[in-house]
Amino acid sequence: MNKAFASQADLEEKQVSFTKLSDNAYAYTAEGDPNTGIIIGDDAVMVIDTQATPVMAQDVIRRIREVTDKPIKYVVLSHYHAVRVLGASGYRPEHIIASRDTYDLIVERGEQDKASEIGRFPRLFQAVESVPAGLTWPTITFTGRMSLWLGKLEVQLIQLGRGHTKGDSVVWLPEQRILFSGDLVEFDATPYAGDAYFKDWPQTLDKIAALQPVALVPGRGAALTTPEQVAAGLAGTRGFVSDMYDSVQAGVKAGKDLNAVYKETYAKLKPTYGHWVIFDHCMPFDVTRCFDEATQYADPRIWTAERDVQMWKTLEG
Ligand SMILES: [Zn+2]
Repeated sequence: MNKAFASQADLEEKQVSFTKLSDNAYAYTAEGDPNTGIIIGDDAVMVIDTQATPVMAQDVIRRIREVTDKPIKYVVLSHYHAVRVLGASGYRPEHIIASRDTYDLIVERGEQDKASEIGRFPRLFQAVESVPAGLTWPTITFTGRMSLWLGKLEVQLIQLGRGHTKGDSVVWLPEQRILFSGDLVEFDATPYAGDAYFKDWPQTLDKIAALQPVALVPGRGAALTTPEQVAAGLAGTRGFVSDMYDSVQAGVKAGKDLNAVYKETYAKLKPTYGHWVIFDHCMPFDVTRCFDEATQYADPRIWTAERDVQMWKTLEG
């Protein structure tokens, strides 16, 4: 039987957890659905990745209001993916902050990504009609590193390198050693790598490890609340990315085509990672991008709704 396209058949409701990491840091997680991070400063609240729609953002706001009445002034976008950014307007923030590379990706492919992501995973875009027309635009961009001071609390936004996308940023509380990684790190959830840089990603994970976080909020999966759990999250993500790149590279060197490389890589990775959520969703996109990088495309090609379906038919049809 053919697999339903991407995650159109995924209708399972997820249980939300709101995990306290410190007096200043919380994680809104949902059994492998996209996470949102929350930082509460002396005078303001920062939200890191927004959920997919303004209606879905209301549930995050409801949780925030159980612990603070300070104004939500800042939204940070760890990267450009629609499922992370289209809920931004729901918070009515003063500022939306992202790396300049993320801004450039929104300009270059934001429209196509929005259509593609909504088509792939309708359940994640609950009340999609509440998303305003057009795109979500950062009002502040940075390159490399910036610090924001929420009163006395320093919040660092850092580009440690490319990985999940060209524009990945992490959010770091240096005094408390708490990190919000975006999709650079996943836990018990399959990394989406359709826009990834496979060669760079492990080095970027090294830089995260070098910060020595004591807690880490991944892009998907439960909050990691001990150094041991953080190490497990980093190792799992690294293993998946490296195993895929090794398998695809070996296939390319042997002169195999994408279809053969896909089937081979799926079979190799399934025993180790097949139990992670969205494994079957991610594999065709991930292997296609990995094959591109191992052959002729230094940068990810733009995914459109049409290209998504075409690719799926070729590999799964
Ligand atoms: Zn993403």
